[in-house]
Amino acid sequence: MVPDIFHRDFRPIPYWWEAYTPRAGDLVDVPKAARVAIVGGGYAGLSTALELAKHGIDAVVLEANELGFGASTRNGGAVSGGVNIGKSFTGRSADVAPERADRLLSDASDAFGLIDRLIEAEKIDCFWEKPGRFVGAWTKKHFDGQTRRLAVLNSAAQSGAYMVPRERQREEIASDYYFGGMVVERSGKLHPALYYKGLLEACRRRDVPVCAQSPVTGIRRSGAEWRIETGRGTVSAGDVVIATNGYTGDLTPALRRRVVPVASHIIATEELPQDLARSLIPKARTLSDTRRVLCYYRMSPDGRRMVFGGRARFTQVDPTVSAPILHRYMTDRFPELHGIKITHAWTGNVAFTLDALPHMGQRDGLHYCLGCNGSGVAMMTYLGWQTARKIARAANYACSYDHEDFPDHPLYSGRPWFLPVVGGYYRLRDNLDRLLA
Ligand SMILES: Cc1cc2nc3c(=O)[nH]c(=O)nc-3n(C[C@H](O)[C@H](O)[C@H](O)COP(=O)(O)OP(=O)(O)OC[C@H]3O[C@@H](n4cnc5c(N)ncnc54)[C@H](O)[C@@H]3O)c2cc1C
Repeated sequence: MVPDIFHRDFRPIPYWWEAYTPRAGDLVDVPKAARVAIVGGGYAGLSTALELAKHGIDAVVLEANELGFGASTRNGGAVSGGVNIGKSFTGRSADVAPERADRLLSDASDAFGLIDRLIEAEKIDCFWEKPGRFVGAWTKKHFDGQTRRLAVLNSAAQSGAYMVPRERQREEIASDYYFGGMVVERSGKLHPALYYKGLLEACRRRDVPVCAQSPVTGIRRSGAEWRIETGRGTVSAGDVVIATNGYTGDLTPALRRRVVPVASHIIATEELPQDLARSLIPKARTLSDTRRVLCYYRMSPDGRRMVFGGRARFTQVDPTVSAPILHRYMTDRFPELHGIKITHAWTGNVAFTLDALPHMGQRDGLHYCLGCNGSGVAMMTYLGWQTARKIARAANYACSYDHEDFPDHPLYSGRPWFLPVVGGYYRLRDNLDRLLA
């Protein structure tokens, strides 16, 4: 039986879509030619087009669905200035030399700087704030691991990170759920769909054609040019950028084999009583934790609702399945939210990579920026920006994410049949870790 957690006004769409709903708008014709064709109209695609326009290079953005259909209007809106250099599904970590690890962190910190500058320069009204993040430790061992990472985070990514012991945890969260945790001051939050809308408007101000309902169905070489076939016409271009992230399909099989689309799910609660709403996250930070099946959460921009996300399942499931699980995760942390109803529940695809790192580069002549690994608001904006600068020959250094080693795996062809098993295994490991903590 479906538990009684759904508000009478419940809608199975992102809460963010109340402010901007993905739409095709007045359909822009697919041009016959452009210097650069960009496949995918999320943050990465728009950011690429915007930066190219600033260099006087004309680009077309080709989006299969409505504008904002992908993860870019569905995410939690937590903005990180870091990157996890850790283990992926395969148990494989990226083979990263210490010098490159520092550059990966430093470039992730630049990604945070870029989004800050972009929002300011383009006057994007998206509730951008920089209150920092609290990452709760699931076990004492995780707390010790976080403590060991502090020095490198602060030196390479200027994270402004420090540890909060369990006795002082209630300064961060109205809960005793964690074993203390880490504060990362250099983190922020925004309204993801309004940030998207702002990027879209910035592209339109520069007359970039952003073509909705234009699925790219084929890309082939024709002499020195690419011929890109879409559902609404064919365009010739000198360069092509693939920015399809968790929605990468058969169009680019070699890239599809390198990203694993994992579902992530979110709920938003009804408006909470003001005092209760203010008390839950006293410093208004974003929160996440160190579990393998992590949860991430924050208050809505008006401070009235809890927006609570996590991998309730690793695959797309109906909100009647995911929402009760997330509601339980939420009340495990905040028992005072028992009885609070959910007004919105939704899902979207995150692109994981087999070395757990984001990637940009070129394969078979096509540029790509892919693989946010769950943390892509700043990073995918940045990789699009870096890709544009590379095409414009304006980059004065090679981005550390532009690396030829973008691994695949002999047992993975692009269809993630193993996700339910991995999800179950991760949940079991989380539970065991806590039992033994
Ligand atoms: C539920 C959820 C929560 C998240 N929370 C956070 C968070 O709090 N913080 C954070 O930093 N990151 C978060 N992320 C990740 C972040 O949302 C993504 O990294 C980011 O939005 C990816 O942007 P993108 O432009 O690369 O891809 P997307 O926004 O996913 O856009 C890709 C687009 O490509 C299009 N496409 C695919 N194939 C074709 C084709 N053949 N032709 C034309 N178009 C095509 C798709 O329709 C899609 O619109 C979250 C993601 C999800 C799903």
